[in-house]
Amino acid sequence: MLQASPVLFDNSYARLPPQFLAEQAPTPVAAPQLIKFNEALARELGLNVEALRQNAAAIFSGNQLLPGSQPIAMAYAGHQFGNFVPQLGDGRAILLGEVKDRNGRRRDIQLKGSGPTPFSRRGDGRAALGPVLREYIVSEAMHALGIPTTRALAAVTTGEPVYREEVLPGAIFTRVAASHIRVGTFQFFAARGDAESTRTLADHVIARHYPEIGDRENPYLALLEAVAERQAALIARWLHVGFIHGVMNTDNMSVSGETIDFGPCAFMDAYDPATVFSSIDRNGRYAYANQPAIGQWNLARFGETLIPLIDPSVDKAIELANIVIKAYGERFQAHWLSGMRAKIGLSSEEEGDLDLIQSLLAVMQQQSADFTLAFRRLADLAADEGATDFAATFQDPQAVTSWLAEWRERLARDPQQPAARAQAMRKVNPAFIPRNHRIEQAIEAAVEDGDFSLFEALLKVLAKPYEDQPTFAPYAEPPLPAERVLQTFC
Ligand code: AMP
Ligand code: MG
Ligand code: MG
Repeated sequence: MLQASPVLFDNSYARLPPQFLAEQAPTPVAAPQLIKFNEALARELGLNVEALRQNAAAIFSGNQLLPGSQPIAMAYAGHQFGNFVPQLGDGRAILLGEVKDRNGRRRDIQLKGSGPTPFSRRGDGRAALGPVLREYIVSEAMHALGIPTTRALAAVTTGEPVYREEVLPGAIFTRVAASHIRVGTFQFFAARGDAESTRTLADHVIARHYPEIGDRENPYLALLEAVAERQAALIARWLHVGFIHGVMNTDNMSVSGETIDFGPCAFMDAYDPATVFSSIDRNGRYAYANQPAIGQWNLARFGETLIPLIDPSVDKAIELANIVIKAYGERFQAHWLSGMRAKIGLSSEEEGDLDLIQSLLAVMQQQSADFTLAFRRLADLAADEGATDFAATFQDPQAVTSWLAEWRERLARDPQQPAARAQAMRKVNPAFIPRNHRIEQAIEAAVEDGDFSLFEALLKVLAKPYEDQPTFAPYAEPPLPAERVLQTFC
């Protein structure tokens, strides 16, 4: 009898015209070993967990291809730090195929670091263990924080070295996404003047991610609007938790609205809007507070690719697209402000709330308050007026006294009761974020000693970011000065 495949693939991207992709199987590796298999996610995807578990290292390294898999590398272009590159594409990622999950949603299963493809240019098609662990930790943490993101299904070591500035252990990451279609995928066809393929791609994206706009009068304008809305909401959520993506190139912006491509990403400790971690972001293009504006810049590039589809008159199409791009600014501001209101415990809206929020942020910046800890402790203060932990997160605790008086005055006009307010605040102000020094410690132990215990501990604590988890208290703390890790590499 034929054995059913542990993964019931239902591929749609692989059936698109040949210019969309290159057929490419993973290149086998010497000695794959499983680091982690996310069984809960596998169940959500409707996969046969027991069958996968038995052969996890072979399957998640690409050494064993499952029946029904049609491995492909996707074509895309992109603006990298503002410069257009007409052909990038999956240089080290291979889409194994798509499944329908338990909720009927289509999800991509992709290997990252599985060998060269026709898009590899000078790259080796491989990934080092450190970045694989970082992507695993941070993408799962983002999910637990409630932020749309690609997910981590598995990680394996390859038993082969990769050559970067130093020799590092190789690894392969298995990523799950609503799709891997990027702004850069649209740019790939638009830059070639191939409006027909752009339309095919747009129709695919609408059917897959935005079925509700399919019968709109102008579905392509509606697509731009829908993507702008999801990006506005997404980037606001990043700011609410102190996340810095690090490489918001147009090829790293998903049209589904998920956070994608965790390279040199990191979470801010002390609040400073100019924070940059990525070693390659020398001018701070992708600094914390620049992210909303970069989102808009990327959406303008997306809008440009849709111009021929939006209206037969180019002028008219540009005019319509510009309205949407402008409105993104307001959409972002609305998402950001409503999230910030929740962070300071407001359930009602007043004109002066923006000022109140901005003056808190100004003191936090001036006093190097830890972004995560300060908001978490503000929740304690909402329930207990005598709590002093909040002010202690500021270099000079006195510096926030007058702000606290204004805040109390405002709370007096808010209908919520103190206990309920504190509870609501704890649901939006995490106790635990993937702090950069903890990630680096986990990576170092794994790379240098083959010790994955810190990686496992981080996954465990970050799965419940809004719970106090007293046994993990040290993970809530900012780094000591000597522990600080201010740069990330990818
Ligand atoms: P990223 O900045 O990581 O989003 O990647 C930008 C482009 O470089 C994409 O086309 C990647 O596929 C490609 N790339 C990154 N690393 C490698 C590698 N080691 N081998 C081949 N291509 C790579
Ligand atoms: Mg990328
Ligand atoms: Mg990347």
